[in-house]
Amino acid sequence: MDFGLTDFQQSLIDSARRFANDKLAPGYQARDKETLINRDIVTQMGQLGFIAPEVPEQFGGSGLDALTSGLITEAIAEGDMNVAYVPINASLIANCIVNHGQAEVVEEIIPRMCSGEAVACIGLTEPQGGSDAANIALKATQDGDYYILNGEKTSISLAEQCDICLVFTRTGTREEQAHGISAFLVDMKNEGITCTRFDDLGEKIVGRGSIFFDDVRIHKKYRIGDEGKGFVQVMQGFDFSRALIGLQCLAVARKSLDETWAFIQQRTTFGKVLAVNQGITFPLAEAETQLEGARLVCLKALWLKAQGRDHTKEAAMAKWWAPKLAFDITQQCLLTHGHGGYSNELPFEQRLRDVLGMQIGDGTAQIMKMVIARRYVGKLT
Ligand SMILES: Cc1cc2nc3c(=O)[nH]c(=O)nc-3n(C[C@H](O)[C@H](O)[C@H](O)COP(=O)(O)OP(=O)(O)OC[C@H]3O[C@@H](n4cnc5c(N)ncnc54)[C@H](O)[C@@H]3O)c2cc1C
Repeated sequence: MDFGLTDFQQSLIDSARRFANDKLAPGYQARDKETLINRDIVTQMGQLGFIAPEVPEQFGGSGLDALTSGLITEAIAEGDMNVAYVPINASLIANCIVNHGQAEVVEEIIPRMCSGEAVACIGLTEPQGGSDAANIALKATQDGDYYILNGEKTSISLAEQCDICLVFTRTGTREEQAHGISAFLVDMKNEGITCTRFDDLGEKIVGRGSIFFDDVRIHKKYRIGDEGKGFVQVMQGFDFSRALIGLQCLAVARKSLDETWAFIQQRTTFGKVLAVNQGITFPLAEAETQLEGARLVCLKALWLKAQGRDHTKEAAMAKWWAPKLAFDITQQCLLTHGHGGYSNELPFEQRLRDVLGMQIGDGTAQIMKMVIARRYVGKLT
């Protein structure tokens, strides 16, 4: 087992970390007052090869393995976890399109995604529920070479600012459940699409909202995967994004811990630096231990993916554990900073608000634990 990085991997991560430190971290708190991700930042990430770098070079990616891609995303998230939404969504969606889209569509769309020209969102959740993801009502009815989409997606990250959306629709009957679902790549400029925006606790520049489809005509070539197979084929890609989200959240914890170790060595109480107290250092030492464990789970999931091996269980473990742990570690770091940690002078309160959403987005802890348990007891009814 080799935990080392090659010189090539290290140089890519160093370059992503430089970008995160120089361009993202300084504006993280100011961006809490904004509502959109700055497109210049997205373009720069595209130019530097940080968006969906695992996509083959012929389509505008760098042909990297999933693990290296995850390490780049983690470095970006250390600067601003919200900006990292763009590469995470791009990795999830680009991989679905490359694996299941028509060649013509892959050539048209993927280079635009990798360059940062086209920001993508994923349209799965509907008003009647998100956990029961196969309970989809949004209807796609075939009309010659086109499908007509009618219905609503809700709770969609980047809804208001994305250029394309991978939309899961019902092409079959409700009785067919997961077997009657097809995925389509939808240009958000299409006639009949409107969006609303929620007022969320955090992740302000990402923004969530509903997307309404009112007789939206989509050419059949934009169907991703076979008709009725969207759930089975395309949703496998979520294992990738779950591991990436784990690293995204742990990057927040890493940053918080680094700042807190530094703080306790300079802040004095009762004539001594805080760091002499085990009541201060032990919670941080525990946090370091747990962070290391959760990060290894994320990396293992990505390593398995890179080997072409099943990684569903590990991705589910990463997805429930890492966001919760990141929240808990950040809370501990906030408390260790005393009254300053509670104010918005320091970034901890924003980090708590930002990272909390990832305990729900892309599937809750309960659903992830159901996925894990199924590996041991099968699907019980
Ligand atoms: C920050 C954020 C970003 C998001 N981004 C997107 C996005 O980009 N695209 C998208 O499609 N969706 C997105 N979502 C929606 C998200 O995927 C859903 O909110 C999530 O899957 C849960 O669905 P729900 O909110 O409808 O809760 P419900 O499914 O109604 O569940 C409510 C609660 O009950 C629990 N629960 C449900 N069923 C069971 C069960 N059988 N056993 C035990 N517990 C259960 C759930 O864990 C949850 O705690 C986002 C959500 C958030 C908060």
